[in-house]
Amino acid sequence: MYNLTYEQIIELILEKSVISKEELDVKINSKLKELSDLISKEGAAHIVANELGVKIVTIPKTLKIRDVLPGMRLVGLTAKVINLYETREFVRNGKKARVSSMLIGDESGTTRLVLWDETQINSVKDLKESDILKIRGAYCKENNGYKELHLGNNSQLIINPEGESVGDVLVRQQLIRKNISDLNENDSVEIIGTVVQLFEPRFYEACPECGKKVKPIDGTFKCDTHNTVIPKDVPLINFFFDDSTANIRVVLFRDQVLNLLEKTEDELQEIKNSPEKFDKLKSDILGKQLLIRGRTTKNEMFNRLEFVANYIQEANPVEIAQTLSK
Ligand SMILES: [Zn+2]
Repeated sequence: MYNLTYEQIIELILEKSVISKEELDVKINSKLKELSDLISKEGAAHIVANELGVKIVTIPKTLKIRDVLPGMRLVGLTAKVINLYETREFVRNGKKARVSSMLIGDESGTTRLVLWDETQINSVKDLKESDILKIRGAYCKENNGYKELHLGNNSQLIINPEGESVGDVLVRQQLIRKNISDLNENDSVEIIGTVVQLFEPRFYEACPECGKKVKPIDGTFKCDTHNTVIPKDVPLINFFFDDSTANIRVVLFRDQVLNLLEKTEDELQEIKNSPEKFDKLKSDILGKQLLIRGRTTKNEMFNRLEFVANYIQEANPVEIAQTLSK
């Protein structure tokens, strides 16, 4: 498996040796002929690079979670299942689709693993915690400051491969879970509970560069960092969240709003202008059980604590039971 394209390999060879482009083409073509086209041209380029003493740095086939970074493709690793999340249904291009996710970990850290392929989703339906997964060809994305590993149609997933094991999982950056009644200002924590009241979605004008709120000045909009910008509408929603110890107002921004409501931005704009649509939305959302990560902040104007979310997901019933029994 080569992590570099043919063009990238060629570029590297030309950069690190004295061979000309023409000579290199000749060498690669004759290598392809010599091996009767049994190898790909990338493969031939690698062999030629070796012959020329040019080291092609490739990402090792197997990584530790700590070393997987957003933007990486063709990631391979072996990890242990730590937590299984509920498979969600959604509609894409008018078709029903599903997405499944779980938390996996190894000796170096943990990450969320996301599955989009129906065959793969079916293959994990009997998965248990502590099962071992061997993953090939995954890609890594960033989501709200956390890296996520995604599997596509061409990725491979092997459950409990023979002879593979994972040591003690290092749980890092795992946020502490707190009862809402125990929250203090500036706590970065995880809370689990139920949506008990939902307020109408709103939009505010934000800098397209950094996402911060912009100020209207003389008919233009100014960002503190990026000066005059053409703002974009960013959705915001508030709801009351209760975990049976207390409740708190939660504030959600941007993608998390769309994520919670399972709506597009356009649909949200419509809801803003339609009390009927908002009532319907409310009845869908009230009672939803969520796991929310974020930070407790003090709203000075109202002298109350609020929770600014940076990650939400539907709570797993097992987790809710564990929280209640504590
Ligand atoms: Zn800005």
